[in-house]
Amino acid sequence: AKGAGRNTFRFFDTHMDAEVEERLRLRNGLHRALDAGTLLLHYQPVVNLATGAMEGVEALIRWRGEDGQFIPPARFIPVAEESGLIVSIGDWVLGEACRQAARWHADGHTGMKVAVNLSALQFRRGDVERSVVEALRKSGLPGHALTLELTESILISDTEQVLSVIRNLKRLGVRLAIDDFGTGYSSLSYLKRLAVDTLKIDRSFVGDLARDPDDAAIVAAVVTMAHSLGLLTVAEGVEDEETRRQLHALGCDHAQGYHFARPLPAAEITRLLSEAGL
Ligand code: C2E
Ligand code: CA
Ligand code: CA
Ligand code: CA
Repeated sequence: AKGAGRNTFRFFDTHMDAEVEERLRLRNGLHRALDAGTLLLHYQPVVNLATGAMEGVEALIRWRGEDGQFIPPARFIPVAEESGLIVSIGDWVLGEACRQAARWHADGHTGMKVAVNLSALQFRRGDVERSVVEALRKSGLPGHALTLELTESILISDTEQVLSVIRNLKRLGVRLAIDDFGTGYSSLSYLKRLAVDTLKIDRSFVGDLARDPDDAAIVAAVVTMAHSLGLLTVAEGVEDEETRRQLHALGCDHAQGYHFARPLPAAEITRLLSEAGL
């Protein structure tokens, strides 16, 4: 039935402009990749700025297209959201990330945490609570080892429904992080209503931190606010030693970025864990 659907779409191709055609090509390719099991996850270390130790990883989806080249998530995630495919992809990501983290735990790396990105559509159209319960149950990973990264847009929309889902997720022991903090909506009221654990400071405030006093002021304010609210901070996009040093001086708790490590295949994270004796 799926094949027939694709052929039907193809029939309309001549009427579409290049942009729409490209999206359709991506969407069909993504469908096949999900069915064929050719999507994969890379994992980027999250480092404790006080100790330098890797405390966890963020799972980032990777898609190797039929020509063998990686297609960036920034290109296919919007297509997956538009088509609703992000719900099934998101379920796969949750399952796979928990399975991998549980394997690290089973190998003795019991402090390892894994963070998974959630799309707003998984809240609106999917049953995210059930997906998380399933992923934890199937993998045996303890809830506290899983962090869900939410964007500000999720927390602003459909508040009542989102609130109850989030309360139930918290009961599983799962941690919540606000991704790309500071780039979404100006409302901070959700910080009062939701039991968020971590703010991830967007890399647009971090990349130039060592050279731009405005950025330093913003990061300092976010860290102070977060700590007053009992939240931890993760700085994203740390690319050099001077930025690492300043973030540490500003009291930021954790960091991610090319300075420490790029997103890596699971096997390379396993190797890092063994080398570090974690
Ligand atoms: P994000 O959640 O903000 O992820 C961080 C992005 O920054 C990743 O890009 C990562 O590779 C990149 N990055 C890490 N360190 C550095 C650095 O030092 N400098 C620079 N310039 N970039 C750095 P990536 O993997 O291309 O992912 C892009 C976005 O796609 C993610 O942004 C996230 O919004 C989305 N995404 C990725 N995986 C998933 C997923 O499984 N589900 C959903 N819903 N979205 C995902
Ligand atoms: Ca993220
Ligand atoms: Ca981010
Ligand atoms: Ca500036």
